[in-house]
Amino acid sequence: MKTSAQVVVIGGGVVGCSVLYHLTKLGWSDVMLVERKELTSGSTWHAAGGFHMLNGNTNMAALQGYTIRLYKELEELTGMSCGLHHVGGITLADNRDRFDMLVAERAKHRYMGLDTEIVGPEEIARIAPITSLDGIVGGLYDPLDGHLDPSGTTHAYVKAACMGGAAIETHCMVTATTQRADGTWDVVTDKGTVHAEHVVNAGGLWAREVGAMAGIYFPLHPMEHQYIVTDDIPEIYERGEEHPHVMDPAGESYLRQEGRGLCIGFYEKPCRPWAVDGTPWNFGHELLPDDFDKIEDSIAFAYKRFPVLETAGVKSVIHGPFTFAPDGNPLVGPVPGVRNYWSACGVMAGFSQGGGVGLTRAQWMIEGEADRDVTGLDVGRFGAWITPGYTLPKVIENYQNRFSIAYPNEELPAARPHRTTPMYDIFTDPGAVWGHQFGLEVPNYFAAAAEPDYEEPSFRRSNAFDATSREVAAVRGAVGINELQNFGKFSVTGSDARAWLGRIMAGRIPRPGRMALSPLLSEKGRLIGDFTVSCLSDTEFQLTVSYGAQAIHYRWFLKHLAGDVQVRNVSDARTGFQIAGPRARDLLTACTRDPVDLTFMDVRRMTVGQAACIVQRVSYTGDLGYEIYCDPMDQRALWWTLWEAGQPLSLEPFGMRAMMSLRLDKFFGAWLREYSPDYTAAETGLDRFFDWSKDFIGKTAAEAERAAPPARALVTFIVDADKADVTAYEPVFIEGEVRGFCTSGGYAHHSGLSVAHALIPRDRAVEGLVVEIEILDQRRRATLTVTPPFDADGTRMRG
Ligand SMILES: Cc1cc2nc3c(=O)[nH]c(=O)nc-3n(C[C@H](O)[C@H](O)[C@H](O)COP(=O)(O)OP(=O)(O)OC[C@H]3O[C@@H](n4cnc5c(N)ncnc54)[C@H](O)[C@@H]3O)c2cc1C
Repeated sequence: MKTSAQVVVIGGGVVGCSVLYHLTKLGWSDVMLVERKELTSGSTWHAAGGFHMLNGNTNMAALQGYTIRLYKELEELTGMSCGLHHVGGITLADNRDRFDMLVAERAKHRYMGLDTEIVGPEEIARIAPITSLDGIVGGLYDPLDGHLDPSGTTHAYVKAACMGGAAIETHCMVTATTQRADGTWDVVTDKGTVHAEHVVNAGGLWAREVGAMAGIYFPLHPMEHQYIVTDDIPEIYERGEEHPHVMDPAGESYLRQEGRGLCIGFYEKPCRPWAVDGTPWNFGHELLPDDFDKIEDSIAFAYKRFPVLETAGVKSVIHGPFTFAPDGNPLVGPVPGVRNYWSACGVMAGFSQGGGVGLTRAQWMIEGEADRDVTGLDVGRFGAWITPGYTLPKVIENYQNRFSIAYPNEELPAARPHRTTPMYDIFTDPGAVWGHQFGLEVPNYFAAAAEPDYEEPSFRRSNAFDATSREVAAVRGAVGINELQNFGKFSVTGSDARAWLGRIMAGRIPRPGRMALSPLLSEKGRLIGDFTVSCLSDTEFQLTVSYGAQAIHYRWFLKHLAGDVQVRNVSDARTGFQIAGPRARDLLTACTRDPVDLTFMDVRRMTVGQAACIVQRVSYTGDLGYEIYCDPMDQRALWWTLWEAGQPLSLEPFGMRAMMSLRLDKFFGAWLREYSPDYTAAETGLDRFFDWSKDFIGKTAAEAERAAPPARALVTFIVDADKADVTAYEPVFIEGEVRGFCTSGGYAHHSGLSVAHALIPRDRAVEGLVVEIEILDQRRRATLTVTPPFDADGTRMRG
């Protein structure tokens, strides 16, 4: 056995083998995989082998598309068969909301260049004739759906990896992973120790245990899952062609042909987590006992949807465990805070996603970054706050919702409230309807006494519309207040702080007492952050940014730390309030003895009421506004000071729905919507904040883009919408052809306009351009507009 390797991958399931292959594909050959038994000895061997591209997250859909296309390449490269059956598949809709969701997915696929198709009941009868059409509204057909042989595919990955120089060691159990002082790893196995520069945890069902060897908690959990293979069915084997896949979300089932019969699996509501206190090491090539009780209702439903099943005998039952992360997406990438330790686990659909996960992981390790936005699968998207107690109910919820409709305004209830601020009860009293971000409860809006205390999930304008309208009017008319807890915050101190920030940030670093907006770029010039930099003194700065990305940004800062600089993630150690609206200055004046003469983008320490605060003259609402940061222990006192002083000024609380509407009045973009690693600063206009006079990470790539401007540009449209607005990824038709897509949108209550941001060809980005945007199957006229409808000259915001 090798005693050293550049990379050791732990785990020979489909994911570990794909990672190994992709490392060699991208040019690293001193790589090794260790497997405690035979290859496929976890979830992989008993998978149904189905693959599909449909995924609400467009980057996950693209990653799945890559995986599916890879299989042919793998077969050609190795001469081995993956047992591919590209039979196509239909996802059924039995009600209007499900159909809306499929239509919205199809709309996204238009700009992704995918050949999916909305089909009606007659076409469903033709394509998938064993389906009962009772109550079926329509479906989405995807010609890329299919299935394969799980074991053959895993071995094909391994053969391809070995052709690229990789080594495999089976029957080799990892018992410890120990980091040396220089950051490299000793991977201790029952056959000896391998010294590795990098370790990859692809331990699948045992990823928690493998992680614990390095003191790392991976937020994932195994769930039991069952599918049934039937005896021969004449209606199947007498057809001249293979029956396509049918996904029936109403019945929580997926079905496909297996030999001369069918195979049907269920994501049943009475599901069961497996191995709650840890996966036994002696588990391997065995199955769990059959359990028809928990899928009884699902089977009864399936008999109605596919009547041929009722008389079919059962040939075999496959009941095994596989892992999920709390949001159902894989956990990939460098583990925050642990040098050279990488994650490739929590992959619940290894045959739809394994190839893309392998590629992403290999790019990240070898090239320093992936070639698309990987936030949705980044292991860093969960912070240090996550615990097994939170993960378990979320994973159960995710399993149960696997086939549920995913609404753009949906707030899932499991494991909540988890993290709350001192404002939780104060805001609950006047009717806060809570949402959640990064584990934190955040008020979405405040319902009036006569209104329901929950928001109906919807693809259209929801029952939060009136409350949002009231809150927007309160801000624009007088003054509104909301919490600042859900801002990511970093403190940067030290004698080299200014110089360090100058190199990390692409923008100008402000002088003491001032703030500046600054993009953060990767080495390849990708947009990886959109920061506000506040200079408290030459040796002390505060950075504010998206709350959900704090662990990812912190990982980046620590990786690039140099000189006398201390960076602290103070996202939860600094909280406070934002006040905004024409009377915001009066409110602050009433609460402090300090002079309230801050001009736009000033920052200053002040005492507000009894609390020592950092006050910034800025507001994402685009109005006259202040951000007031304090210690969480002072937050309630600060609230009562502001609230009482605000009564004569008509102060009202507002939530995130109002905030996102207010920003649309000013055409402001949002992180991971308009600004994300998928787009560049030049495409989105953020390059206007670059300080070209200095060196900064990503400058070479940014200069190249300046010399050859990108083909796309971010623009804003006013849409002739009716009861449904743009959410994200709707296609933009220019002269009847799909030429762009929306990044986000919504209803700007103050202006009374439906607003959409979109990326379209730069040469068409001209004021007045009339396009059509597809919203829920309707093409809506939209006009490119440059001037925001509110405070276009900035008098209110800067005044
Ligand atoms: C019933 C069922 C049906 C499914 N159907 C589908 C489907 O149709 N399509 C689809 O895409 N997905 C399906 N899945 C999910 C799929 O099986 C998983 O997504 C996939 O197998 C995960 O692969 P993995 O490599 O991450 O993990 P695993 O397959 O669990 O592999 C982990 C490997 O790591 C090894 N290992 C662990 N610890 C150590 C150690 N300390 N030292 C050395 N080696 C170690 C294990 O022995 C194991 O071989 C199904 C799952 C189930 C249960």
